[in-house]
Amino acid sequence: MTQKYPTYHFGKDFRDKLDRFVKQFIDDGLNEFSKEFANIDDFIAGALVDNRDAGEKKLRTTPKEKYLLETVAFKIYDELNRKAFNKTEKTLIVLPDCLSLHNPDCEKEDKPYGDICMSCTKSCRAYHVVELAKKYDAEVTFSKRKLSEQIEHYAKKMGDFGVIGIACIMMLTEGMRTAHDLNIPTRGVLLSFTGCDHWNEKEFASGFQLSWLKSILEEKHGR
Ligand code: SF4
Repeated sequence: MTQKYPTYHFGKDFRDKLDRFVKQFIDDGLNEFSKEFANIDDFIAGALVDNRDAGEKKLRTTPKEKYLLETVAFKIYDELNRKAFNKTEKTLIVLPDCLSLHNPDCEKEDKPYGDICMSCTKSCRAYHVVELAKKYDAEVTFSKRKLSEQIEHYAKKMGDFGVIGIACIMMLTEGMRTAHDLNIPTRGVLLSFTGCDHWNEKEFASGFQLSWLKSILEEKHGR
């Protein structure tokens, strides 16, 4: 009797196929994003000889291939979650702390499950997220280190909800995995650049495309 395999089945040629596919994927990906990833090699070379602690060094010397892998993983999660996210009733937008680094007088309120923006200045990206969120009755919070606890808190508070995360490549993709484990449909907006002290000697505010966030909200609400 022929064995039936429930999902996948690798033959003898699979390992070679995978090797070829991944090599091509990396070559094509790094070529496609050569402009966007242009500074990574020099950054890694500097990070290898700086005197940050071991944890920081590990993050700062992340190989370029992992930037590619996590960027694509983010996009796949985002697509997989799209329909379920659009069916949820409410929306929570989770911001990174680095959005307000330009303002030493930031007035955000310190809360146990995520700081809350008080809309103190129009020159802050967070201000514009809060304004946009009002239109869709979405909640906005800053991220907390223990993301799973933060999401569980909001799950109790909001009931049927989806999350839009705004973060850098590594944090966003990891966050989408955490939310997936908790069965919360999550979409995301990648930071366009990172201003926090993990990546800079002198920190500054990170940026992202507000139009990207807007398009996710418009798709969900049909307006
Ligand atoms: S707008 Fe919000 S996040 Fe930005 S500086 Fe003011 S309180 Fe802080």
